[in-house]
Order: sequence, then structure tokens, then C-alpha cells
Amino acid sequence: MVIALFFLFGLIIGSFLNVCITRIPEGLSIVSPGSRCPQCETPIKAYDNVPVLAWLWLRGKCRACGHPISSMYPAIELLTGFLFVACFLTFGLQPETFKWLFFVSLMVILIVTDFRARILPDAVNFFGFGLGLALSVRLGPIDPACLRIVDRFPILARNPSILGVTCAVLGAAAGSLLLLAAATLYKLVRGREGMGMGDVKMMLMVGTFLGIQGTFLTLLFGTLLGSIVGLLLVVVLFLTGWKSKVAERASRKGLGSVSGLRWTISSRYQLPLGTFLGIAALLVVFFSRWIDMQAYRFMR
Ligand SMILES: [Zn+2]
Repeated sequence: MVIALFFLFGLIIGSFLNVCITRIPEGLSIVSPGSRCPQCETPIKAYDNVPVLAWLWLRGKCRACGHPISSMYPAIELLTGFLFVACFLTFGLQPETFKWLFFVSLMVILIVTDFRARILPDAVNFFGFGLGLALSVRLGPIDPACLRIVDRFPILARNPSILGVTCAVLGAAAGSLLLLAAATLYKLVRGREGMGMGDVKMMLMVGTFLGIQGTFLTLLFGTLLGSIVGLLLVVVLFLTGWKSKVAERASRKGLGSVSGLRWTISSRYQLPLGTFLGIAALLVVFFSRWIDMQAYRFMR
């Protein structure tokens, strides 16, 4: 029963996340106007706005003009539903669970906007940063790494609220500074930008929710996942003849061999790092208990 309620709540929030995903990167309001068909701009009636089901009974088409509606909409709704159920199954019914519902919602937005448009909107990052800080007063991300630092400053450890906020700030600082350092290093080595400031701001926000340990693991898993997928993608793009026309034209102008040019173009494919960081952050949230157990074992 509770699982069904979390799933249903997730579907409804997922429907709102779709609005955020499509409108925020365009700089549009997420409140008004109401949902409308992107093609014919006919307002969508309430009964055609039911998560997942409406898309099914409309057979993925606008009722007024027949314009196809992306399957992204029901997919995001289902994904959010499953993630909300996962939050309940992992954390149960307690105040902390609601912190994670907010967090997974923010991650869904960023994972998809970065994947679709290579955008991590400031509005989402800064809202999340503020929310993470506010929630840390009661539900701070207190982890062993943070406690070890705070132990040296007893005045910070005495009050649980101050401790929570301190750990959130330390997590934010760790996440953004580490990524900033990595970006600087990458620029020095490769001579070009490897990631945008959006990723750094995203980690600032992630840090307030996950604390030092979780943020560090997010960076580790996220960049690892991005590197593996990125390398595979470059090879696949190269083997499948991606941009071969462009390379042939450039080669005729004497800019180099076709395969050499194609390798250069393929290896410059811009990966959505924020998408990988977001997936990693979700993994950290849902495996946090298991990770804590391993960390405890390791430290013994
Ligand atoms: Zn339409």
C-alpha cells in the first residue's frame, strides 16, 4: 500500500519534472502557461495529462494535431515512480526519506537536461544548493570523513544543527573544488575545456546533500563511468563512420588522412559529464548503507 502510494506520488512528480526538463533550459516559466502541445499549442486537458496512462491512450500523439509526443515523458514519469519506491525501500518512512525524494528529483532533471541539451541549469543547481543547506540543519549529511575534520573543532561538533550544516558546506566545498581542480588539470594537459562550470555548480549542490564521503564517491564513480562510456563511444563513432563526409572533405583540402581526422572528431565528442555524475549520485544514495558497511569494515 505504502509502496503504491510512493509510486503514484513519483509518477505525479515525474510529470512535473518533465515540465522542468523541457522548460527550464529554454528559460521558460515552469508554472504558467499550463501544459500545451509544442506543435499546435493546444492546451492539454487534465484527463490527457494523467502520467503514463494518457500517453498510452493517446498512442503517443497530440489529440488535436496528431503530432508525436516523445516517449521521454512517460519514461521520466515511470523512472521517478521507481526511484521514489527505491527511496522508501532504502530509508523507510522517516523525515530523511523526504530529503532523498527531493534529491532524486533534482538529479532526474539534471541527468536529462545534460543528456538532451548539455545544460545543467543554474536555477536547478542553486535551488538544490539552497535546499540542501536548509535541510542539513535537521538532516545533515554527517559522515565519518566529516566527523574526523570536525573533531578538531569541538565548538562545531557540540550542536547537531551546526554539525549538519558544517558537513554540508564541507561536502559542497570538496565536490566543487575537486572537480574544478580536475577541470584545470584537464585544460592544462589537453589544451581545451573538458567540462563546463555547470558540472562544478552541480557538485556544489550534490555536496550539501551527500557530505564529503558521498560526494567523493560520486565524483569517483561518475568520472569512471563517463570515461568508460566515453571511450566506448569514441570507438563506436569511429568504427561506424561517424562524420566521414566531413573528414573526407577536409582530407581533400589536405588537412590530413581521413581516418586520422575522423579519430580526432570522434574523440572530441562532448560527453554529458553531468549525466554520469547524476547517475553516480543516485547509486551512492541507494547503496549508501552498503558503502558505509564496507567503509566500517575497511577502517577496522
Ligand atoms: Zn498538437
